[in-house]
Amino acid sequence: MIKVKKRRVLLLPGDGIGPEVIAEVKKVINWFNDKKSLDFEIDEDLVGGISFDKHGTPLTDEVFYKALESAVIMLGAVGGPKWDGVEFSKKPERALLKLRKELKLFANLRPAICFEQLVNASTLKPEIVSGLDILIVRELTGGVYFGEPRGIKPIENGERKGVNTHTYTSSEIIRVARVAFDLAKKRSNRVISCEKSNVMEAGQLWKEEVQSLHDKDYKDVELSHMLADNCAMQLVRNPKQFDVILTDNLFGDMLSDEASMLTGSLGLLPSASLGAKNKDGEMRAMYEPIHGSAPDIAGKGVANPIASILSFAMALRYSLDLDNEAEALEKAVQEALNDGLRTKDIMSDKMKEVSTSQMGDAIISKLQ
Ligand code: NAD
Repeated sequence: MIKVKKRRVLLLPGDGIGPEVIAEVKKVINWFNDKKSLDFEIDEDLVGGISFDKHGTPLTDEVFYKALESAVIMLGAVGGPKWDGVEFSKKPERALLKLRKELKLFANLRPAICFEQLVNASTLKPEIVSGLDILIVRELTGGVYFGEPRGIKPIENGERKGVNTHTYTSSEIIRVARVAFDLAKKRSNRVISCEKSNVMEAGQLWKEEVQSLHDKDYKDVELSHMLADNCAMQLVRNPKQFDVILTDNLFGDMLSDEASMLTGSLGLLPSASLGAKNKDGEMRAMYEPIHGSAPDIAGKGVANPIASILSFAMALRYSLDLDNEAEALEKAVQEALNDGLRTKDIMSDKMKEVSTSQMGDAIISKLQ
């Protein structure tokens, strides 16, 4: 069994703007090492298209083993049109799915926070999104994306049938629900669990297991259930009614994208994918911005590094138990925005446009 090294941070910048935004994260980590003596051990390697170009695979065994022994993996982004023609099993995105699946990162946390300074960047009215702070907890390694049987097969009359299977076991539901309840306790203590228990048996099981875990271990947390289609509607009608949303892989995929757009820019939102804690309290986890490799702006120095820097703040909080440092970093981001500094994606009237590295430097200067 490969042990997790507590202070090991593996940087996997990947493709497109990945290296540009992860370079800013590296500066932040070095700042914590130099100024706060936090002793993070940084390692860096290839993943995605760049790994395919060099090694013929998007994730080498060597990098996979490095990932296994790292407490924190900071991923930039993978993919781009350059690898469109590559066979399915070698596509850059396969590296991500393998890391999530093999490291058993079953809980995906996606905060959707609306920065007060950027309230006007949302497509919704300012009064609807101002002060928004939602955390979506999405199950990441089960459900219809992984269930068997699956595939496309010929049937009678020259027709074909596409099959995917939506399955969940009690333990898969309970372990992710536990994450949601534990996180809710650190926030406003409310969980809304979303499924389609009205039309799907797996949804009915989801609802029953979440409720019974609540009744057994989390009576102090307020729990309610909502059908996933209603949740999609409520997210644009009145998003501030939510605190923690707990949901499965498929619905979580959609609801978290919807929630992220309430806040205005893809360049601002972090995410965490967490595994289970073992008996020694060790946990594997991967942190990444929710955006992709943005080939349209790659190499221009205009990418917004805030989503990646906030992903590292999540790593400080969830993997490294450094809540004060996480808060300081989040505050530094706010202060840089308060100073009117904006990367191109969030630029508006009377603000000062800065490059990727200028934004990183400004955030670090606020940490001082
Ligand atoms: P994208 O997120 O890369 O870009 C969408 C739009 O948002 C683009 O206009 C881009 O310029 C902009 N944008 C994204 N991040 C930004 C940032 N930090 N700062 C400023 N602007 C930013 O999505 P896409 O264009 O659909 O996908 C591009 C590639 O990324 C595809 O190959 C896709 O498969 C891949 N992708 C990877 C991941 C991942 O690695 N986790 C996630 C999504 C997409």
